Amino acid sequence: MRLEGQDAVPRPGTHPSQAELRRRVDILNDRYRHHSATAVMQGALRDAGNIALVSSFGAESVVLLHMVAVIERRTPVLFIDTRMLFTETLVYQVEVAERLNLQNLRIIRADDIARHDPDGTLHQRDTDACCALRKVEPLNRALADFDGWITGRKRFQSGTRAALDFFEPEAGTNRIKVNPLAHWSPDDLRTYMDENRLPRHPLVARGYPSIGCAPCTSPVGQGEDPRAGRWRDRNKDECGIHFENGKMVRTGAAT
Ligand code: SF4
Repeated sequence: MRLEGQDAVPRPGTHPSQAELRRRVDILNDRYRHHSATAVMQGALRDAGNIALVSSFGAESVVLLHMVAVIERRTPVLFIDTRMLFTETLVYQVEVAERLNLQNLRIIRADDIARHDPDGTLHQRDTDACCALRKVEPLNRALADFDGWITGRKRFQSGTRAALDFFEPEAGTNRIKVNPLAHWSPDDLRTYMDENRLPRHPLVARGYPSIGCAPCTSPVGQGEDPRAGRWRDRNKDECGIHFENGKMVRTGAAT
């Protein structure tokens, strides 16, 4: 029996054009337009092909991690260890993965750091190059076998995300990006974490509402934008973890 919108499922080994990807995304957005984040996640895992969750195990990550654990705990979860993370993040990652019994956690690391950043100071000279080396390129390689990935991006985070859909084509790749929390507010996130008694990243209570690498993240003061502590005083506000034609673009951070 043919299911409605079954064409949204990529056929194994196929590489859809951007037009085909757009068509699939439109089918998925129409189908899930008024659905909950959980339903979108379920739909993505069922209808959008081979999908991974990309997680920073940051301040809000536990929401999507919990949803994946409830729906299908064998879903691949990709965690990028830049080797510049806070110790608290590494400890939290282990704690959350164990607590939620995640069955397919994949820790992604760059394999050529010693050659390109032997003394670990590249972030002081060129943050874009450092993010490309430690985050973007390893993730791009890790995603090569997937039809799509789930991100934690939300509409409230910035003006450029104000019209964010649940599903979107990733420009220049064959992948679909899934944003189950697109319509969620900060209150929604807090409520979900409270109701499900999910562990919080310990740095949140110490003034870090957005958490990335240790050298590039500082605490945020009262009234500041939650992302003000990321790359503070530098001309950068995104890790560039989204791709076009296999290269990073500054369209928004997944973290
Ligand atoms: S956030 Fe900073 S330390 Fe981490 S990869 Fe980017 S520039 Fe490097």
